[in-house]
Amino acid sequence: MTAAVRRLRRALVLALLGLAAGGAAWAQAAPDPLEELRAEADRTLALRNAELRGRLGIVLRYAERLRQTGDRKGARQYVDRVLKLDSWAMDAHLMVAEMTREEGDAAATEKKANWLLEHAESDGVRTGALHLLERTADTAIPDIERVPGESVKIVLIPIGAVDVLLLKAAAEQVMRRLNYEVVLQRAGLELPRDAETPLRAYLDDLRKRFVPLLDTPEGDAALAATSRGRAQLEAEEVFLLVVRTWLEQQARWRELADLEARLETDYRPRWSADTMLRHFASVLGPHGRPNVMYVGVTRADMHADARRRSGPVFGWGGREVAVMTYGPFLSARSGEKPSWERLVARTTKQIICTAGSAFEIGRCGNAKCPMRVVYDLRSLDQKGYDPCTRCAEQLRRRY
Ligand SMILES: [Zn+2]
Repeated sequence: MTAAVRRLRRALVLALLGLAAGGAAWAQAAPDPLEELRAEADRTLALRNAELRGRLGIVLRYAERLRQTGDRKGARQYVDRVLKLDSWAMDAHLMVAEMTREEGDAAATEKKANWLLEHAESDGVRTGALHLLERTADTAIPDIERVPGESVKIVLIPIGAVDVLLLKAAAEQVMRRLNYEVVLQRAGLELPRDAETPLRAYLDDLRKRFVPLLDTPEGDAALAATSRGRAQLEAEEVFLLVVRTWLEQQARWRELADLEARLETDYRPRWSADTMLRHFASVLGPHGRPNVMYVGVTRADMHADARRRSGPVFGWGGREVAVMTYGPFLSARSGEKPSWERLVARTTKQIICTAGSAFEIGRCGNAKCPMRVVYDLRSLDQKGYDPCTRCAEQLRRRY
């Protein structure tokens, strides 16, 4: 490609992005990206508290760049300011722990890493904390295949991006409580496209403008950095990840900050539980067997819109196939202090309950029984782990 063609493409990209911003000017990429990032970080820190939501990521990106250039002192100042504004910014805590190790303070690093493991809920922060303790984090899941044997098994399959370390920890707990083998398999399932969100028109517009821009070397670079292919852009979660990566690679900090703030404050996508279940069941056809219960797991919000109930649900399902979400259990959604133990406990109980609906053991009214279907966190926390006499009897009779 000649330089002239590249310039022309670049001009086209900028023009289209101008439209994508809804008329607001998308600034030309800066000559010195780090300087521009500093300006955006400082601008963010000067905002009023009410305007900060979803914007602190930019400040952390600047701190990370400073750290990469060896300026730990400068990085620390920015991280401390983030933590002052959001004392549970776990990415910021991880960065502090990593800088503590770089300074050679092994005891303080270990203490901070263990503290992170008590609280951190995401794969990203937990993996970082485990590395600090020289432990490995296994986030690999084998591809879907026919499960051998005739014994009863529960197969957990991610729908969209999930925290694998959480699913592995919860699967272990379920095995301990139910005596069924629980395995994780990957079917390459993204979230269905049609979520309800107040940002629907904005996102559809962004997609219309942005997808043609990916036919450029810059677009290829963004796709490569996310290890995604063009076909996966249909999924909104993937699309937004690629857009954000593109903006970051192009050092378009203001646009990136505006998009992230918009997603944080207004996105609130929710999926129809029936749609999610149909979407999930569609990949299972050749794998289905009577002794295998398939549970699709997502972090997306699900909403029932049908006969049985209307409103948010944690799980939804029928014979041998069910879907569940752990999204509402996350501290970021519930507004609680982050706790790994609580998140694993809730997810474990929900897997047992959702598997129960795939086992078709019927409704249970016992508030302590994990098979009881609940719709709020308080009732979920009240449940125990061991099935009540009636449910245990039902399970024995069927399986
Ligand atoms: Zn029961």
